[in-house]
Amino acid sequence: MDKLGLTRDIDLALHLPIRYEDETRLTPIAQAREGEVAQIEGRVLASRIELRPRRQWLLTVADDSGQIVLRFLNFYPNQQKALPEGALARARGEVRGGFWGREMVHPQVRAVQADAPLATALTPVYSTSAQLPQAYLRKAVAAALWRAPVQELLPPGLLPRELARLPSLQDALQFLHHPPARTSVAALEDRSHPAWQRLKFEELLAQQLSQLQAQRQRARLRAPVLRAVDGGLSERFRGVLPFELTGAQQRVVAEITADLGRSQPMHRLLQGDVGSGKTVVAALAATVAMDAGWQCALMAPTEILAEQHFRKLLQWLEPLGVGVAWLTGSRKGKARAQMIERVASGEAQLVVGTHAVIQGDVQFARLGLAIIDEQHRFGVAQRLELRRKLASQALEPHLLMMSATPIPRTLAMTYFADLEVSTIDELPPGRTPIVTRVFADGRREDVIERVHEEIGKGRQVYWVVPLIEESEALDLQNATETHALLAETFAPAAVGLLHGRMPAAEKAAVMAEFTAGRIGVLVATTVIEVGVDVPNASVMVIEHAERFGLAQLHQLRGRVGRGAVASVCVLLYTSPLSSTGRERLKAMAETTDGFEIARRDLDIRGPGEFMGARQSGDALLRFADLQEDTRLLDVAHELAPRLLDHHARAAQDLVARWLGGKMEFLKA
Ligand code: ADP
Ligand code: MG
Repeated sequence: MDKLGLTRDIDLALHLPIRYEDETRLTPIAQAREGEVAQIEGRVLASRIELRPRRQWLLTVADDSGQIVLRFLNFYPNQQKALPEGALARARGEVRGGFWGREMVHPQVRAVQADAPLATALTPVYSTSAQLPQAYLRKAVAAALWRAPVQELLPPGLLPRELARLPSLQDALQFLHHPPARTSVAALEDRSHPAWQRLKFEELLAQQLSQLQAQRQRARLRAPVLRAVDGGLSERFRGVLPFELTGAQQRVVAEITADLGRSQPMHRLLQGDVGSGKTVVAALAATVAMDAGWQCALMAPTEILAEQHFRKLLQWLEPLGVGVAWLTGSRKGKARAQMIERVASGEAQLVVGTHAVIQGDVQFARLGLAIIDEQHRFGVAQRLELRRKLASQALEPHLLMMSATPIPRTLAMTYFADLEVSTIDELPPGRTPIVTRVFADGRREDVIERVHEEIGKGRQVYWVVPLIEESEALDLQNATETHALLAETFAPAAVGLLHGRMPAAEKAAVMAEFTAGRIGVLVATTVIEVGVDVPNASVMVIEHAERFGLAQLHQLRGRVGRGAVASVCVLLYTSPLSSTGRERLKAMAETTDGFEIARRDLDIRGPGEFMGARQSGDALLRFADLQEDTRLLDVAHELAPRLLDHHARAAQDLVARWLGGKMEFLKA
């Protein structure tokens, strides 16, 4: 049972049936309909073994209404002995139309005395493992419920009236494990039954409480107060910026600088669609930290993106006298040692890189602000490592996370409740909307022609080939072959190749060529997905677009349409399309709004995957459904602070009951 995670009594109590069997009533044989599962009872009229077409045992059973054949392909002599002709048999199974009339194949069957009592409750069926028989688990669960009744933790009088009518948790669990005969199976299945509501509400409440606790713990931490100074870096940077900030950028910059000026660590997510201009906001925040005499770290999930940030920040800030350092996993030996020394001495005021920036031997002199770009792309382990690193200073650094994937409201309330959110809801001026076209792969020639035209006009093109998950070797081959083919097709224009297993330096060189406009077509695997910025690129072709996730497609599309030129995104697909594949392509064709894309993505995939929770191997909510149970979530959200303030003990116990060992993960 430990393997199933069923260690405590409460774990058993919360191990709910996946379905039920109805053994509470008998169906007259004549009324047992084909295709339905029924329980019948009748006298054995005949019991015989047949050898053809294969050995089998046939049992003919009759009640007052009619008769039916029970057919067994595997059976023991004992079973036969227990059911001789004339015995009373009770059987449960699916009714089928057989050659000789209606029959049940392999029903559950046993001999009973006349008037043997029927079950009074539906029989639970639990998910279990091969080593743990259903019957054993049933007993264990029933024993746990009986031995250790689940204590009611919700204080009386706390719930709004509509929820106050719900059963206690013990009653709800008792009910769900053993629903009385005649319970509506539909209400059990769609989880609308009051017992389900009660259970889901408590789960959501526990989850809200844990978030609130984390938030309050953080509020007790101290961070350096970071304020820009008159005539300082921040002011000078604004002075040399080649463009005006949009209204939305100004607003989020104000929100962030207000946070930085407080002595509690900022914990803020900056969300804005691809191309909305988050980088400059990050740079401005960095200048405020440096003005105040503290270091800033900027981390990106890939080397390419980190390098691009590095170049941009170097270009913006070096002329103003800022020491910018660069740290990634591929940087080794002496260069790395020197970098680490500059970080430790505080000489490097701004450190840009991948998560190598926070790895073991890197020590900051005075880290005041950590910025994480595309934070959802970092794994849970990396996020936890970052948290630990940040917490190792006497004063905790401020934290700014950035993402182009907006968090839906319900998720923001549940898993990101401990997070302030700033949103850039406006694109910089002068952008022409991207047109998205979806083509079957057969139209490839037309697409190639269109690409020819664009190159002729001096524009640049991305040509993305998908990752082939089963085989890295195939993946590479695919990219290389496409590259060779297109190089021939588009000659004399230069065609570049970028894939995940190229050495970092080589990748950087290709990217630099493309940025400089010397490469016309860039064939790439998804390494270019995140954050690359080349305003002259006007066409994005994605092969096998049906294999990409929606968020990924949206990110890729965001690589074009960054300048004033009209841009096109071409999605090539290969039939047959799966239904989710079709939905994704449809969503892409219908909208370029990142928020709408995220909403549809949530519809298609559900919140678990959205959060990258698969990495943890753990569903975040077991019972509640963030899309269905918004009302329960709202109430839980409202009640959590009151419970924590006035019923601290109960709050504590609720969190322990529901979240047990998952606490660390939730902080990531
Ligand atoms: P993202 O939010 O996707 O990270 P970037 O920060 O890469 O977007 O910005 C996209 C492009 O828009 C960059 O070339 C950037 O210099 C430019 N940009 C950002 N803000 C403005 C602005 N206010 N006016 C004009 N261009 C801007
Ligand atoms: Mg970006």
